[in-house]
Formats: sequence, structure tokens, C-alpha cells
Amino acid sequence: MIITVVDLSLSPRETLPFAPETLTCIERSLASGRHVIIYHNRRWAGTATICRTCSHVWQCPRCDVALVRHLRPTDRLRCHRCGYVGHPPETCPECGGADIATIGVGTQAIESRLQTLFPSFRIVRLDADSGESAWCDDPLLSPSIFVGTASVLSVYSDRIGTCVFTLFENDSIVTSYDSDETLHRRIRLLSERSSETVIQTHIPHHPVIRSFVSGTYREFARESLDRRMRFWYPPYAELVDIVIRHRDRTKLDTILASIESWLTNRQNTTELSCDRSVTSREDGLYVRRVTMKWIDLGTDLALIRNTLWKNRAVSVEWH
Ligand SMILES: [Zn+2]
Ligand SMILES: [Zn+2]
Repeated sequence: MIITVVDLSLSPRETLPFAPETLTCIERSLASGRHVIIYHNRRWAGTATICRTCSHVWQCPRCDVALVRHLRPTDRLRCHRCGYVGHPPETCPECGGADIATIGVGTQAIESRLQTLFPSFRIVRLDADSGESAWCDDPLLSPSIFVGTASVLSVYSDRIGTCVFTLFENDSIVTSYDSDETLHRRIRLLSERSSETVIQTHIPHHPVIRSFVSGTYREFARESLDRRMRFWYPPYAELVDIVIRHRDRTKLDTILASIESWLTNRQNTTELSCDRSVTSREDGLYVRRVTMKWIDLGTDLALIRNTLWKNRAVSVEWH
């Protein structure tokens, strides 16, 4: 297993999203008749559309999120939360300016870039938008470049040369308690199938990368388990989100107040932890999420089942 870490802060910006040494590895694999896998955990063409003159960001009219630019099948702005679809703007509604940019890079943009860089090779995009979920090697086919999100994990072949993680941070900045472990699993899985893995990043000293470079997997596993134990995450505690969605913000606040009063009483035990995130909007509904961690939440939730569960605005998500 060969792992090469490329520090993007030292790379020329003109060649991004691929550093020059990454392109050399890709070219070497293709020249030797091997496939290339490009893992990029952002779909679409770009992550937000902004006005360069006044910094206006195009947002979904029904949710609190930026609209995402899709180039295929047609050029549209889409909301990934509620499904809203809008036309790409020509001018800014705030300042009237026409200097509009799509920021961030998704798999569709990477695919287009690869087509320009390697016009004589087949580029296969595998993600939720492409409709392709799995791929098996045909030895008669010439080498291909597979680009995609976690769907590229389904590529099976004994002639995979280079595997590239285009931007490690796409996964490492996810605020989930097990995001580092998921990322570790993905790097391991792809690196075991390929002859060389290239990880592009601005944070080359991240613990996940360090564990691969120095071969200290046991240390990484021990640190992950220690962290889960220290912060009350599974398997040392149960994790539950109570999600409240309501069209009426006042009613949402009333329901939240009843949950909070219950939590305040329970917090006397000191083992209960609760995050009260800010109110957001999804598909026209106001949303609040209360995260609870404790050893045995089933017993506690049973106590408030009658007051909460009959309310259709409230749902419970177990992790
Ligand atoms: Zn929306
Ligand atoms: Zn503007």
C-alpha cells in the first residue's frame, strides 16, 4: 500500500483541482493500462453561486441553504433539501451586477476537467446523480477514469493504478462523531485495491492521514474509542435527536419549551447532555433539533412519550 500525501498549500493554484504530482501519477497509471479512481465527496458542479460585486449568495426561497449549481442534465440551481429548482441567474437581484461565480467544486466539474485533460480516455462518473451505482471490470476495455463520491467504492478491478482523494477536507470537516472513522475506512478500502493512493489536502498532519503515513492504525482506533467514551457517544452511550418541524414558529417554540423543561429536570442527573441548535428552515418549515446522549435513553424517552409522540411535528432519530 503506497500512500502519497500532497500538501495543496504548496501547489500552484492554476492546476487545481489536481496538483502537478497528482497528474503525474494519473498519467503513469493510464500509460501502463491501469484504471484511475478519483474520489471526490461533493456532487454537482459547484457548492454555491455568489455575486462577486456585492457577495450576494443565491439561497433556496424555502430553506436556509445555498442553492447548488448542476450542469447536467441541464444547467440549474437546485436545493438539496426540498427539491426546489431555479434557473441560473444572469444578473444579481441585489446590485444588478453580472459578475456571478460558482464556488466550490463538485464531481460534475471534476469530470469536465478530466475530459479536457485526458480527452482520449473514458471518464465514468459514479454518484447519486449519474444513476450508476456499481461497475465491474471488463478486461477488454481500455483503462478508464472513475470519478465520484462514495459510489466509487463499488468499482472492482484488479488493475486499478492510482486512486486520488481530491480534497481530504471535504470529508474531514463533517461534524459527525464518526466522520473520521468513515473517512479512514474509505481510504483503507480504496488504497488496498489500488497500487498507489494520493491524498490531496491542506491539513497533512490530520490524525487520519498520520495513521496511514506512520502505520499507527491501533493508535488511531484507541484515540477514536477514547474520544467516544469521553464525549458520550455510541457504543458508550445512546445518541438520539429529537427533531421538531412546524410551520408556525410560535408553536414550535412552545413544543421546544416543554422538551427543555423536561431536560432541565433530567439534567440534575448530570449524565444527560443536550445541544440546542439554532432554528433553521427546511421546505418552508421551521426546524429545531435537540441532541441527547445518555446511557439509557429508552427509559427516559418513555416517560415523555405521551406528551411528545402524539405531536406530529416531533420525530425521533436514533443513531
Ligand atoms: Zn429548499
Ligand atoms: Zn450583487
